[in-house]
Order: sequence, then structure tokens, then C-alpha cells
Amino acid sequence: MRYLWLLAGLIFGSAGTGWAVPIVQIRLRVAPATHSFTCHYRLTLSASDTTSVLTLYLNRAFALQRISSPRASWQRVITSRYAGDTVRCVQVRYPGHSRRQVELTYSGSMAEGEFTDQVAVFSGHSNWLPFRPYAEYELVAYKLTVQVPPSYQVRSTTPATRQRPGQWVFRGTTSHIEPTAVVAQRFYQAVSATTPPVALVKTGAPPARPDTVLLRRAAAILAFYNQTIGRLDPARHLTIFLPGTNSGAYSLLDDATVITYSTFDVADRGDLLILAHEISHKWWAYGSFHTEHGWLSEAFATYSSLLYLQASGDETGYQAELARLAASAAGTPPLWGFDRYQYPFPMYRRVIYNKGTTILAALRQRVGPERFLTILARTAAQKTSTTPDFLTIVEQVAGSEAKAWLLAELQR
Ligand SMILES: [Zn+2]
Repeated sequence: MRYLWLLAGLIFGSAGTGWAVPIVQIRLRVAPATHSFTCHYRLTLSASDTTSVLTLYLNRAFALQRISSPRASWQRVITSRYAGDTVRCVQVRYPGHSRRQVELTYSGSMAEGEFTDQVAVFSGHSNWLPFRPYAEYELVAYKLTVQVPPSYQVRSTTPATRQRPGQWVFRGTTSHIEPTAVVAQRFYQAVSATTPPVALVKTGAPPARPDTVLLRRAAAILAFYNQTIGRLDPARHLTIFLPGTNSGAYSLLDDATVITYSTFDVADRGDLLILAHEISHKWWAYGSFHTEHGWLSEAFATYSSLLYLQASGDETGYQAELARLAASAAGTPPLWGFDRYQYPFPMYRRVIYNKGTTILAALRQRVGPERFLTILARTAAQKTSTTPDFLTIVEQVAGSEAKAWLLAELQR
């Protein structure tokens, strides 16, 4: 993401003359004692984006206080259904060639699972930012200013570019929903002595033995991936946040992973696989979350975690996990053309994660481990986001017969 950092600098530096990605300016004021916040959000579409009606969805639990879009011909707020949820929908129409900019001011309380007495988490799964429908993961260049009481500190995926007591400023490039602010009175940080380095950022309690083991394991996993799936596009660093909010684990595009479990011990195989899955999302992040192409993120991350498990010497665990996933995938609809919104949520896991993983394991059997790694490394380096593009890579590396076989597996 270093390149993207440079890009962000260029974009902000030349915002008057033309810019390649949307620009987002966020001012977040947090009141940690009451777990509440106010957010002032400004979105400027890229110069080439001539959308006539801009739609933004916002968490309906928030109070929308103000919308400002000076050059719009009209604007309205309605309620919409989106991905199985009800959202507040802001629509703004722009005439002709005007600059497409909108500002929203909203306030609300943090959702359960996004805070404890020690920490408040505003990040990729906190649902705290507006987004364009089906474009949550579109890249934006952002400036995030966070205001907190002076006794509090703020961390993000990048170091603060400016800071004074009570105010922290971060800049970078990431997806619409992933600008991150973790707020606490005290952070504990540990950095591995390895290359690439892994940083652990913890709140609540000082690092204990499981955290030390976690840091060592994360460094080993990252090194393994850099030699395998990531060998054409190696990671330079990784940050792991441990906020203790107990609401799952997820990764962020900007080389960071958030593990919120209040107890997490990689001596346990299940926790180790979660860690390895999340770290691999550095390379597997481009298949759309809404479509069957999501297997390019989730099945690839799951199978990467199994490859690490096997390489670390746990062949029994590798076989057991694969058998468990295969049993769960039995009798499910084809991955090819799978529409997650036609089924209850568990089917999404069974097809996109579990069936996809068993198909990857079968592909490895078929083409052999070396050619399989070449396929994975190329798929990662090209930020492949659709199944047809993946099939093309399989054909280039392993031939048209392998491609035809894989297509049949995906349609089965
Ligand atoms: Zn995942």
C-alpha cells in the first residue's frame, strides 16, 4: 500500500485539477464515556465520475442532521432495503459537469460490540460510514480527523500525520468503509523483530503470553505467505489490532487485521486458522462480497490458512479441516452463479467459503503443488476479482484442459 500512499499525496495535492479516485474528508468527534459520536463526512467524486444521481447509504440507527450539496439540482432522503437490511438512503442529483460533492453530518451511539470500557472501535465492520451501494470496497483517498477528550489516544492503520492533545489526523487510501480510528486512554504496542515486521496494538490489558505467541506466529505466517501466495507481491508490514470487543475477526485493505476476541490463543488450531485466514486477506481482497466472485476472497483465504497449517507440520489438522469443509459443502448449489441473497446466511458460508476451499484443494491435486502456487501467486499479484479472470490464469499456467475441468467443478 506504499504506492497508494504516494497516490493519496498526489491526489490531495492536485485536487483542483483532476483526481483519480473519490476523496473523502471525515471529521469524527468521539465521546468515549457515553459511547457516542458525531461525524462530518464529505465525499467528492473523482473527476471522471459523471454519475447524475449519487446514492449514499447510511446506518439508519444514526441521526442525520444535515445534508449539503450546493451544486445539486435536488436531494432527498428515503428508506431503502439493501443486502437484507434497512438503510437510510441519501440521493443527490447533479446537473451537467458540476463538481459532485456532498456533505453529511450525523450522530449516533456506537453499536454493541464496537466498544468496551477501555476502547471504542470505528473500523471496517463498525458500519459507521456512509457508502455507495455495492461499492463498499471501492478505493478512496481519505483524510480522517479524530477529536477525542485530551486524555484519550487514537490509533489507525497508518501513523498520524498530525497530532496534538485531543486531535489526531490520518491520511491514506483504502476502501469506503475502512478508514479506522481506535480510541482508548491507553494502548500497548509490541513489534516483532522480523522482516517484514508485525505490530501488535492492544487495549484493555498489557500483552500476556498468548499475545507474545500470537506475534511470533503472525510473523511466521506472513513470512510463509511472502514465499508462496505473496511471492510476486510481498507484504512489507502488518498491524494486528486486539481491541477486545469480542465481535469477530476481519482484515483491512491497508495491511491490518482486527481480531476482537477477548480470548484468542493461537496454540488452539481454530484460532491459528482464523489468524492465518485474516493475514492472507492482504492478498485475497478483491472478489465482490455480494456475488459468487466473493470466493476469490474467502475460499482463497481459507485455503491459504490450510496451506500454512500443513506447511507448519500439522498434516493431521490439514486433512481434518478439509474433510470438515467437504462435508459441509456436500449437496450445496453450484458456486458458479451462486446468489447469496436467495438463501439463508449459512448457505453463503457453505458455498463461498467451504465449497470454494474444497475446489481449490482439488485443483492443487490436479495440477500439482508447484503449478498451483504459481497460479495463486499470479492471481494475488493481479488483484484478480472475477472467476473468469481466475480461469484465464489457470489456463495460462496449467493448460486448457485444467481450465475446463475447473469450470465443470465450479458448475457442479
Ligand atoms: Zn475472510
